Formats: sequence, structure tokens, C-alpha cells
Amino acid sequence: MNSQVIASDLLAELQCHGVRWQGADGLARKGGAGPSDHKALSLGEHTAMVPMLNTASLDSPYSAVPDASGAQALIFREGHEIGRVELPRVPRFYGLSTDDGIPYWKIATLHSRDVLATTLLQHCIRKNDTASACQFCAIDQSLAAGKTIARKRPAQLAAVAKAAVALDGVKHLVMTTGTPQTPDRGAAILCESAAAVSAAVELPIQAQCEPPDDDRWFTRLKDSGVDSLGMHLEAVTDSVRQRIMPGKAEVPLTRYFSAFEAAVKVFGHGQVSTYILAGLGDSEDAIAAMSERLAALGVYPFVVPFVPIDGTPLAGHPKPDSAFMQRLYPRVGASLRRHGLHSEQIKAGCAKCGACSALKRHE
Ligand code: SF4
Repeated sequence: MNSQVIASDLLAELQCHGVRWQGADGLARKGGAGPSDHKALSLGEHTAMVPMLNTASLDSPYSAVPDASGAQALIFREGHEIGRVELPRVPRFYGLSTDDGIPYWKIATLHSRDVLATTLLQHCIRKNDTASACQFCAIDQSLAAGKTIARKRPAQLAAVAKAAVALDGVKHLVMTTGTPQTPDRGAAILCESAAAVSAAVELPIQAQCEPPDDDRWFTRLKDSGVDSLGMHLEAVTDSVRQRIMPGKAEVPLTRYFSAFEAAVKVFGHGQVSTYILAGLGDSEDAIAAMSERLAALGVYPFVVPFVPIDGTPLAGHPKPDSAFMQRLYPRVGASLRRHGLHSEQIKAGCAKCGACSALKRHE
């Protein structure tokens, strides 16, 4: 086995189990959308977002101890040193603030090595009522902790994007949003922000939202500068959708599929993707079958191990076991190959970045 394979195997293993972090919480972020309670760890050219700050990682056999420089950490398994990983440096753009004093890191953050990520609206209608909320989501926590602002304005985001490209060499932008009350499901504010960023800097953009009420939004998003689109299923079986995300499950799978089809026509084969959280109760067969169906449509199924986030109803939910993920990844990878999908061909977004999953190495 070559060292590249060993590196990505180790990162995939750490990602499933989590790691007990033995340093100050430094760069990492509690709560929020995307990889909350994670740190980016790199081994050679591989980078993975690894859960470290959540309670679920406390029973991991792995621990990490940062060195004095803060640039590297030693990884231990049950007390035995097994490797050394690099930690990301603090991005230079984090040192800047807007004229009215908002630090740039509250507007967008660095994910993995070279992705700028933001949540345009840090509130979601699904959160208005605990009975309808997505059980895994921590979108309100980073706002409550004062680590972000409720609404990122297009001009603010454009300024941050420009700085992050110039100072830190970011390669693409992920823009997600909590779902607003409006029938466009956030597409309008994604359009405004994409237009402002595109006017300020050359940076490929992925937008993420629920399927909007009208498929014409896909063309509007594209015309505003969005290169790739994510519409996230999270869970694939009706019973799991109802249990884990009752509000979002009101949008039927049939609507997701009609939206996927319409979006692929606008953005192109492989430029539309969906996040699937493995470990919420969907069987291996259900996720593999859904991935095949999506891939056949030209939609990239980005399968990610579920991470229980502190402060959410699923904080005590078991992590997916790594054997489950190791069986699932090659099956999804076979669908990707069968239908000509590859993360490198995606212009922007989570599936291109890939750091929250080990799927890339099974493409
Ligand atoms: S895959 Fe990359 S861009 Fe997406 S949430 Fe994970 S680290 Fe962020």
C-alpha cells in the first residue's frame, strides 16, 4: 500500500471515530451549518474535516496533541503514537474587519484548505418549532455564541471573498442559507450574493438551498454567477426523513427529483449535488440505491458520515461505524464511475472539496 493510501485511510478512520483534542479549541468552531465541531487535519495532500470538539468524540480511541508551534499535532491511538498531521494556519483574511467593525471571520470562514464558506441567513424556518426542526442541525448555535452574524449582506460577502482570494488563495465559495419563509427557499438572497461576489472577484460559487417553488430560479442563480448547486436530501428513506427532519420532509422526494432534473439542465451534468448523511438510520442498500438513482440523473451524491453535534437532539446518537462507511463508499464510488461523475469536474462546492467524507478516494 502506498503512503497516499495510508494517509487517506487514516484520515477516513479519524473522521468516523472523531478525535479527542488535547489542546485549546483554537481555530475550530462550535455549532453552525456544515462541519461543526470539526478541525481540518492534513496529511500530505489530503485534508479531512475531523470531528473533535463534540461529546461523541470523547469515546474515540484516537487523540490529538498539538505541538508547541501549533502547526502540527501528534495522533495517538489508545496512547500509542501513530502519526503526525498538519493543522491549518489562521487565514490572513481573519485579521480584517468591515468599516463598521464586523470581523471578516464572522461573515465567512475557511473550510478545509481552500474553501470559503458562509451561511447567508443564520436562521431557518424549520427551527421555529422544535417539532419540525432538523434534529442534526446546529445553525443557531454559532449565532448564539456570537461567532457569526444573522444576515450576511452581499457587499460584506463580496469584500470578504475578495480578501480571501487575495490573501489566502481560496479556490471556491460555498454559500448556504437557513431556509426563509419565502417560497424561493433562499434562492433570491443567494442570487444577490452571487452577483455581488462575481462582480468583485473571480471565484467559482456553489449555492445550497432547498428546492425553490419555481424552477426558473435555477436560471436566475446561474445568471447571477452560481456555478454549481447543492440541494441536500440528508436522509433518503421516507421513515428516516419524517423522524429526523419532519419539517424538511414536507418537501416530498418527488419534488427533489423534479428539481434535480431541472437544475441539471441548467448547471450541467455533475454540477448539481446533494449531501447524504450516513448513520441517521438509512440502510446501506437504501443509500447505495439512492446514490445510483441520483448519479444516473447527473447529480453527485455526496455521502458523508453523520457527526452528532452537541446541543442538538442527536447529540447522543451513535456515530456511523467505520465498517459501514467502508462498505458504502465503494458502492457509491461505483455509481459515480458508471455515470461519469468526478469531484474534480465540479466547479465549486462540498463535493468538490470532499473534506467531510472519504468518498473522493473511491471515485
Ligand atoms: S465538504 Fe468542504 S466545503 Fe463542504 S462543509 Fe465540508 S469542509 Fe466545508
